[in-house]
Amino acid sequence: MGELSTPPGDRPITPVETGEPDALDRLWTPHRMTYIAGQERPSTGCAFCRAPGLPRPDSLVVARGTLVYAVLNLYPYNPGHLLVCPYRHLADYTDLTVEETAELAVFTQTAMRVIRATSSAHGFNIGLNQGSVAGAGIAAHLHQHVVPRWGGDANFMPIVARTKILPQVLTETRDLLSSAWPAS
Ligand SMILES: [Zn+2]
Repeated sequence: MGELSTPPGDRPITPVETGEPDALDRLWTPHRMTYIAGQERPSTGCAFCRAPGLPRPDSLVVARGTLVYAVLNLYPYNPGHLLVCPYRHLADYTDLTVEETAELAVFTQTAMRVIRATSSAHGFNIGLNQGSVAGAGIAAHLHQHVVPRWGGDANFMPIVARTKILPQVLTETRDLLSSAWPAS
């Protein structure tokens, strides 16, 4: 695949590689017949070092802190799937400073509050995959997943069709969460 079909007058989302590709194809329901699959990852550079510097139209950054930032996963498991990352390029949770650890935790709490307020999530999966053996797609740069869950979200589609139904395009999700994020 790798094709990005876009309705006339709309622009495609530039893949900024803020996430970890999985085996699932994705069906973006707001744009009928729009089907995004198989985005290729740029071969060089670190996506999580690059993400904060991207200009707004393409950036999926939702909120910026002093030491950490929150960005939408380009390959979400659910709408609103956020990644909280330190700006510093480091791989291991134990390498964070006390200040980075604290702000990462506060950003994770804020992400939960913002997602609850905007989407009434029923629950969350939150966690760090440490190392590629543990499932980290970009193991070199630490990132904490915040995945909202709703009853019935893990339905037959990912299992039968290997396709996730995502009812909201990423830039709309970014704008929704960003506008609901409290000023620090
Ligand atoms: Zn990095």
